[in-house]
Amino acid sequence: MTVSLPMCSVDFMDTSLSAEEQAISDRITELRVQLGEDLLILGHHYQRDSIVMHADFLGDSFMLSQKAAESEAKYIVFCGVHFMAESADILTTDEQHVVLPNLRAGCSMADMATLTEVKIAWDEIIAQTGLTDPITRSDPVALADDGGSFLVPVTYMNSSADLKDFVGRHGGIVCTSTNATGALQWAFDRAGPNGAVLFFPDQHLGRNTGSLMGIDESLMPTWTPGIGAMGAIKGSRIILWHGFCSVHKRFTVPQVEEFRAREPEGIVVVHPECPKETVDVSDANGSTQFIRNFVQQQAPGARIAIGTEINMVARLAQEHPDKHIECLDDEICPCSTMYMIHPAYLMDVLERIIDGEVPNHIQVPKSIKEGSLLGLERMLSIKK
Ligand code: SF4
Repeated sequence: MTVSLPMCSVDFMDTSLSAEEQAISDRITELRVQLGEDLLILGHHYQRDSIVMHADFLGDSFMLSQKAAESEAKYIVFCGVHFMAESADILTTDEQHVVLPNLRAGCSMADMATLTEVKIAWDEIIAQTGLTDPITRSDPVALADDGGSFLVPVTYMNSSADLKDFVGRHGGIVCTSTNATGALQWAFDRAGPNGAVLFFPDQHLGRNTGSLMGIDESLMPTWTPGIGAMGAIKGSRIILWHGFCSVHKRFTVPQVEEFRAREPEGIVVVHPECPKETVDVSDANGSTQFIRNFVQQQAPGARIAIGTEINMVARLAQEHPDKHIECLDDEICPCSTMYMIHPAYLMDVLERIIDGEVPNHIQVPKSIKEGSLLGLERMLSIKK
């Protein structure tokens, strides 16, 4: 096995634990046994190995939201970032408690769209385009036969709960990178042939998915709060919020070219949060689960460069010693907020749960739960 190590000083490939780390790991194992079926630990692919080893399920945000919705555990400890834990809380009952081991674990992309900004954009886009807000209909999702032209909101899972509530109330849908095509099609079916979608907060996922669906880039203007649209929004099909992922925007066309020059038979697979130019020159793109499956399907000896978060790339390299796997950017650092979930925090919240507390309890206010649930349930009901 070979893997290009990142230049930042983190222990991606060092799976040996220090005595202190081993003691923490052993204690987490004991606490999991004590809590038994009352506890479910969910781990995102971007978590470090010393967290993943304790997860009941490892997956992308779509799979983990499904697992949360299906679970009957009293405590769901979400080893991911804040918006994921919020979604788990929305999809579970009042008797279940969702815990985030470190409350500082947010997502810089999710922070790029606030409810206030989206409401301003929504009103301005409706004023400029003359499109109809689905909320004005008695059934905001039964629009297909209405004959009107609507503006339908679609939010990426990587957004705060109040934005999911906005989307749900305005006849829209939540999506993940796994089902973005299905979610956009769902939205277009309701918007009508002359309608449009407002997609937030990740411009790259929206643009890449729109392109995959055959939409010309000229029909996908970008909206920046405080500035407005870059390009004509009247007659457009997808208005893309200006947000981006600080990890995935680092993957570039020159990196792909450098890898191909070095590895003429090499394969490049990237996440659709990468810029479109990078996605366009790659061999494949898809969600973290897609990337896992894609690597699995490659023949022994395959030489693969991956454009996604380094913890996941390093884990894939460990799992596939018969393939050469490297990160497309050899200077990339991990998602800094995902990395805030340290095993010591996981141990601490489990100790406190045993003591009768519900630490770092993620509770989405009831006032925004109903709309958020609508948006999430629409997402869970569509095919990919
Ligand atoms: S990888 Fe990017 S989108 Fe995912 S949690 Fe980190 S900052 Fe957010």
